[in-house]
Amino acid sequence: MFRKELVDLLRGRMLPLSEIARIEKTRVQDLADDLEHLRKSLKHEGLRLIVEPAACQKCGFVFTKGKLLKPGRCPKCKSTWIDEPRVGIG
Ligand SMILES: [Zn+2]
Repeated sequence: MFRKELVDLLRGRMLPLSEIARIEKTRVQDLADDLEHLRKSLKHEGLRLIVEPAACQKCGFVFTKGKLLKPGRCPKCKSTWIDEPRVGIG
């Protein structure tokens, strides 16, 4: 099942969303939706979804914590050189 695969994949490991989407052969948008559901259900198992926020590679601006999708550009310096969020389960 997709959900179990996802948990096994992310347990104790941080991966960028695009990498997970590639492994699971899904779209990043769909994966983000799945992860939002997972975030809620994991609580009942004493686990949690860890989200390392996106950051601007140019000025170091750190985006809103918990957001799963990569922002288009930095609000501070307008750079599009953005390090995408990474997620894991711990
Ligand atoms: Zn920036």
